[in-house]
Amino acid sequence: MVVKREVVKRNTWQREAVREALELTDGFISAQALHATLHATGSPIGLATVYRALADLAGEGDADSLQSPEGESIYRACSTTGHHHHLICRNCGLTVEIAADAVETWAQSMAAEHGFTQAAHVVDVFGLCPNCSAAASARP
Ligand SMILES: [Zn+2]
Ligand SMILES: [Zn+2]
Ligand SMILES: [Zn+2]
Repeated sequence: MVVKREVVKRNTWQREAVREALELTDGFISAQALHATLHATGSPIGLATVYRALADLAGEGDADSLQSPEGESIYRACSTTGHHHHLICRNCGLTVEIAADAVETWAQSMAAEHGFTQAAHVVDVFGLCPNCSAAASARP
């Protein structure tokens, strides 16, 4: 079982605005691009707040985050709530949400074996999706 850390509820409307904008976005988006989108709709929200809200959402599992090839953090609303894992294509960003029962069992037994409590883990698998794999092998 994963125990969610207590989060101080601050800037609630801003967080909700960021969450909503993220849900309306198709695919991954950077904090800067999301901030620009919010500004275009007349929101006075600041860029630093967008960064923090996205980091919070990602930390609580409400958003997927990964590093773009340029090293920028990019985000996507998670379509699965609760604890889960991801398969992420590092070429096109395609993300598949997966359950990983074997990982849950393994993480729990490892923690217990070493006397750890309140254990949590993040396991995302990066690779090339079927399309990108095919494109890569077609290249000479
Ligand atoms: Zn997810
Ligand atoms: Zn791909
Ligand atoms: Zn897990």
